[in-house]
Amino acid sequence: MEFSLSKEDQDFKESVYRFGLRDLAPLSQKLEYDDKEEFIVANWKNMGKFGLLGLPYPEQYGGAGASVLTTTLAGEALGYAGVDAGLLLSWGAHMILCGVPIWQLGTEEQKKKYLPKLASGEWIGGLGLTEPNAGSDAAGIQTTAVKKGDRYILNGSKMFITNGPVGNVFVVAAVTDRSKKAFGISAFIVEKGMKGFSVGKKLSKLGVRTSPTSELIFEDCEVPEENILGEPDFGFANVIKLTLEWERSCLVAPAIGGLELGLKKAVEYARERKQFGKPIIKFQAIRHKIADLKMNLEAVRQIVYKVAWMKDRDIPAMMDASVAKLFVSEIMERTASEVLQIFGGYGFIKEYLVERGYRDSRLSSIGGGTSEIQRGIIARSILNFK
Ligand SMILES: Cc1cc2nc3c(=O)[nH]c(=O)nc-3n(C[C@H](O)[C@H](O)[C@H](O)COP(=O)(O)OP(=O)(O)OC[C@H]3O[C@@H](n4cnc5c(N)ncnc54)[C@H](O)[C@@H]3O)c2cc1C
Repeated sequence: MEFSLSKEDQDFKESVYRFGLRDLAPLSQKLEYDDKEEFIVANWKNMGKFGLLGLPYPEQYGGAGASVLTTTLAGEALGYAGVDAGLLLSWGAHMILCGVPIWQLGTEEQKKKYLPKLASGEWIGGLGLTEPNAGSDAAGIQTTAVKKGDRYILNGSKMFITNGPVGNVFVVAAVTDRSKKAFGISAFIVEKGMKGFSVGKKLSKLGVRTSPTSELIFEDCEVPEENILGEPDFGFANVIKLTLEWERSCLVAPAIGGLELGLKKAVEYARERKQFGKPIIKFQAIRHKIADLKMNLEAVRQIVYKVAWMKDRDIPAMMDASVAKLFVSEIMERTASEVLQIFGGYGFIKEYLVERGYRDSRLSSIGGGTSEIQRGIIARSILNFK
């Protein structure tokens, strides 16, 4: 069994880390963006220039042809560089949830039209699946698409959509044949500006506040038939199958870096902070917390790398991806809470960014399938194996 990264991957990870530290972190760490819930456009553009916005897409569509593992390492490096979790969530929704389905299921025309724009950052993408009344039960969506001549007419709305307020293009799920349930849902590429498509107001959130979120509204929205993505009726099932494994490896990757950064900050602080005449790192209670942070970081890293490794070899990773997503979510929350505890009262104050990390960590067990849903998938997989 080989545990080491290739020299190219190590060098790439290091270069992304240095880029994140130098070109993204200074703005990422300004609290005013979090306070104002502002998407950091300058950082987005920098990511595009560095080639991070379409990393895994083939080179002919503006990407770098990076493997899933390399893409995962980039996310980890950015998390460790202290890039805000909001930007990294927007990155994942854009590159993975919107771009990957277009790359893997799209026609040649669709790939040529959308991927270079997404890879450069000229256009921002997102995925519209969740609805006001259908979240975990994704197959229960109500938005419909009815064929009329050479177009589909979409009616309904999508809720909690990452990049909604800033996005130019969205992969949107809509029911085309209600009688077929989950296999009667198609996927469409919907552009801002298409007749009948509008964006609801920006939603104010607890965490990841630099990632803009909103409702998407379709009122007799006219989508040209060439914008259907993948097979009619099967688009949704294929998009979900595709994106979820990517989402649960690459999209959670910044968390690994975030955990390592949390550990580093906790150690630095515990060395400096003195109580009872000595640095708090001298207290066994604090040392044990540090040891647990390290143990959890190593376990998360291996589990996420394994999913990326499996995906790079086309080994079905549905259950492993759920294990990774569930574990990362729980460890993120626990780590954020323990780091804050080590910082004591200062952790509760905004200035140290530990408070922001605590708020940001809360999304992971909700977005992209809740922890309850992940436990259900894992249990079902185990029972089916027997
Ligand atoms: C900041 C943010 C960004 C998001 N970005 C996107 C995006 O870009 N695109 C998109 O499509 N969606 C997005 N989402 C939506 C997200 O995926 C959903 O919120 C999530 O899937 C949960 O759905 P829900 O909120 O409707 O909760 P519900 O499904 O209503 O669940 C409520 C509670 O019931 C539990 N529950 C539900 N069903 C079961 C069950 N069968 N067994 C046990 N427990 C169950 C859940 O675990 C949860 O605790 C985003 C959400 C947030 C908060």
